[in-house]
Amino acid sequence: MDKIALEKLFRDHGFSDFKWIEAKDIVVAQWVRFRCMFGCPHYGKRATCPPNVPSVDECRQMISEYRQAAVFHFEKKLDKPEDRNAWSRPIFLKLVDLERKVFLAGHYKAVLLSFAACGSCETCEPDRRNCRNPMVARPSAEAMGIDVYTSVRSIGYPIEVLKNYDEAMNRYAFLLIE
Ligand code: SF4
Repeated sequence: MDKIALEKLFRDHGFSDFKWIEAKDIVVAQWVRFRCMFGCPHYGKRATCPPNVPSVDECRQMISEYRQAAVFHFEKKLDKPEDRNAWSRPIFLKLVDLERKVFLAGHYKAVLLSFAACGSCETCEPDRRNCRNPMVARPSAEAMGIDVYTSVRSIGYPIEVLKNYDEAMNRYAFLLIE
């Protein structure tokens, strides 16, 4: 499937806000993992978050085995943080379905790094071996050590540190294709 056909597939899935990025321009950095380890309430509590993911060096190596990725942009303002999973879950599941369609189209390396921690279930498992839905579980880009700020700014997408919940979030998922 060429890029034009892939882009049609993205749009047919309802994803029209996307850009391409060269895999070499996806920045992977150790400080991202440090922020997961210190300052994030999900560390050690989710099957697709650190430490249930490869090391940062392994993540960098894995991403370097690709040529390109589609970056999907989601802008959303939520009234309260508790609404986050209800908003992100259906989008996450649609992205996983898109990954499968891209895979079935012959892009056998296609893999999704999501815009949020896997929200497939109401509650998550702290041990990946106990994941309740391993066929759809995918890590977030941040869990894979991606510096999302630097990476998406390099292709002209907006992202800022948010100071309050009344500010709109700009979230990004990466679909590594080949
Ligand atoms: S599928 Fe469920 S248990 Fe597995 S990582 Fe996702 S939310 Fe957690």
